[in-house]
Amino acid sequence: MFGIQAVFKLNPAHIIRRMASAVTKVDYLVIGGGSGGIASARRATEFGINALLIEHGPLGGTCVNVGCVPKKVMFNAAMHAEMLHDHKDYGFNVPAGTTFDWSVIKKKRDAYIKRLNGIYAANLNKANVTTVLGHATFTGEKNPTPIVEVGGEKYTAPHILIATGGYPVIPSDDDIPGASNGITSDGFFELEDLPKKTVVVGAGYIAVELAGILNALGSETRLVIRRHQALRAFDSMISENVTNEIEASGITLDKFSQVTNIVKDATSGKMTITIQCSPSGGRSKSTVVDNVDCLIWAIGRKPNTNINIDKVGINLDNRGNVVVDKFQNTNVEGVYAVGDVQGKALLTPVAIAAGRKLAHRLFDGKTDWHLDYNNIPTVVFSHPPIGTIGYTEAEARTLHGDDKIKTYSASFSPMYHAMTKRKTKVVMKLVCLLPEEKVIGLHMQGLGCDEMLQGFGVAIKMGATKAQFDDCVAIHPTSSEELVTLR
Ligand SMILES: Cc1cc2nc3c(=O)[nH]c(=O)nc-3n(C[C@H](O)[C@H](O)[C@H](O)COP(=O)(O)OP(=O)(O)OC[C@H]3O[C@@H](n4cnc5c(N)ncnc54)[C@H](O)[C@@H]3O)c2cc1C
Repeated sequence: MFGIQAVFKLNPAHIIRRMASAVTKVDYLVIGGGSGGIASARRATEFGINALLIEHGPLGGTCVNVGCVPKKVMFNAAMHAEMLHDHKDYGFNVPAGTTFDWSVIKKKRDAYIKRLNGIYAANLNKANVTTVLGHATFTGEKNPTPIVEVGGEKYTAPHILIATGGYPVIPSDDDIPGASNGITSDGFFELEDLPKKTVVVGAGYIAVELAGILNALGSETRLVIRRHQALRAFDSMISENVTNEIEASGITLDKFSQVTNIVKDATSGKMTITIQCSPSGGRSKSTVVDNVDCLIWAIGRKPNTNINIDKVGINLDNRGNVVVDKFQNTNVEGVYAVGDVQGKALLTPVAIAAGRKLAHRLFDGKTDWHLDYNNIPTVVFSHPPIGTIGYTEAEARTLHGDDKIKTYSASFSPMYHAMTKRKTKVVMKLVCLLPEEKVIGLHMQGLGCDEMLQGFGVAIKMGATKAQFDDCVAIHPTSSEELVTLR
């Protein structure tokens, strides 16, 4: 296997043109070796161009190191914990006192990620992408496109891609005293033990996923959300159901609440956390939660633009995201951005697809290629998981008017739970546009919905109607058959 260091030198397979001013010039310069940057650089070299990628951390970026991949491993561990409760109901004799050892899965997970880092390095090497280790910044000079500096070396290219991703935010101690005692999702993946008692703050998908994992694995978990439901940006059926499932799973849900103070005991390391509940129109009250081992802030992410972006005059929006058009062009000629740094659809496959399309557009003559950001299938690894694509019912009604929208929905207990005392629900909704009943939204939560969505995503992307859904013979007995038999 390749050590990561092995590729952090200019690849001899390429002639790197050294300019008079000692600026190394390549065809394509990519800042950020995460999902979008790696995909774009690798695709670009397929067209015979000379690509150089700069990364200041482990290869693979957020997804591989502190995102999708380690999260899914932990979700899988949590699924085992949940099913342990059902084993007896299916006739298995699970010995009393069966325990879970966090350190076993942590070690294996870390080793898996290290292996993936090596595979990414090897793949870049195989693709003849030159990888440079270090923190890239714009110098402010141009020749004619901006010049980038890494560890004293200067580089430029006619085409420069910013794929620097984002980072999780943590409130300042000035805003919330003691806030810095908390960690973020990055810190979650460093935990060496399962915290006995955890407070997770946030109502987005990362908060819901981490709270679900910790709770299932046995941590006494609270989730603090500012309004009455989690995942409020999702279809109302999903927000309502996920909130119910969170509460039914045993997580203490603090609604209309905010953490206002954290005090950490220097000896025990335990925290005392004050949570202020302020329901609209109701009486405010505070709850003091003591003996907390772990506080996780999952309150949002910001784009990574600390690359002297102002020196080249690249436009940012009011949230600091790099502004791009549908072709991923920034306002500076020859500079593009893909992935989380441009703030739209923060998902790995989106960054990858946008990066690849860009490579085809720039180097493969596909001058019109760009990613279609509509109908992106999305899964939340909650308990049970959520799958969603297209417009929510509310969005569809606002866009097309009530008289143009018809919905079909179902709510049932999946057959798996016919044998178990523990119950979760399946909820499903199709949002259809009249008169032909084109399916413009599909939302579901329940066992298996994570794996169910991809195929339906293809159908929706192709413009399938409700009648075409119904024309597909059901697969029995599954939960997905409901989606082709809704009435
Ligand atoms: C906890 C969590 C769970 C997630 N789960 C999922 C999931 O299940 N499914 C999904 O699709 N998405 C998931 N995501 C989102 C996904 O990880 C991101 O959307 C994706 O990684 C974005 O890719 P990117 O290329 O834009 O950025 P990144 O993958 O973040 O890559 C950016 C890279 O740029 C590097 N970099 C930054 N600045 C510089 C610099 N100045 N010089 C050199 N290098 C630099 C960084 O070190 C990083 O490696 C999750 C995210 C988190 C945090």
